[in-house]
Amino acid sequence: MQFVLGFLPPSMLPDVRDRLRTAFGPQRAEQRLDPLSQLIKSLISARTYDEVAWAAFVRLRAAFPDWSALGRADPRRIEATIDTVTFADRKARQLPVLIRVLQLRPAQLDLAHLADMEIDAAMTWLQGLPGVGCKAAAAVLNFSTLNRRALVVDSHVHRTVRRLGLVGRSALPSEAYAMLMAEAPEDWGAEDLFELHWLLKKLSQSICTLEKPACGLCPFAADCPRVDATIAAGAPLAFPAR
Ligand code: SF4
Repeated sequence: MQFVLGFLPPSMLPDVRDRLRTAFGPQRAEQRLDPLSQLIKSLISARTYDEVAWAAFVRLRAAFPDWSALGRADPRRIEATIDTVTFADRKARQLPVLIRVLQLRPAQLDLAHLADMEIDAAMTWLQGLPGVGCKAAAAVLNFSTLNRRALVVDSHVHRTVRRLGLVGRSALPSEAYAMLMAEAPEDWGAEDLFELHWLLKKLSQSICTLEKPACGLCPFAADCPRVDATIAAGAPLAFPAR
């Protein structure tokens, strides 16, 4: 297999998925949140370890069993509840604003209308909400009970797809999202993109790590444009952080 920087024939993503599946096993959703809960979780998860973000989300859910109450909540109470996440103060100010914006259109508070929108329109609609970017929008669509066809490009996926040459080295996350969505086989559904996300994330967390990827252990060692033969044979490599 030969990756070509910035361009990937549609047939290559299944091969990437299959190699990663062989390495890490199949990935399936064990539980899915409702769309609004997923949106709130995604917003408090930014730049935060998954387990820390999940614990904060659970505390927030317990403090506000009715999410609409977040719109009237004192940001200081929210911040105290999610204080373990990065930028808790900023996120605590964002959440009430988000809920109040959604409450201007009460029929859309549960985000159920996204189930029937074209995926690009749904992404655009979500990214029009305060504080919502490409990653959070795709997470709402793909990770939640909506189970829509969108690939979540978080920092882990972003790093590995650039190193692999699946997208250009300087591609922004939103650009990587667009390129990978365009390259995904037409017959791939939401579950395929869900699995690709988690497989790439596992690769990033366990082998293609930020500073010292273990290329000799990687299923792409023979093909990856970031690796020479010496490294592919097992020598560690230190990459500049990016
Ligand atoms: S070969 Fe190395 S740089 Fe390429 S994806 Fe694997 S771990 Fe990352």
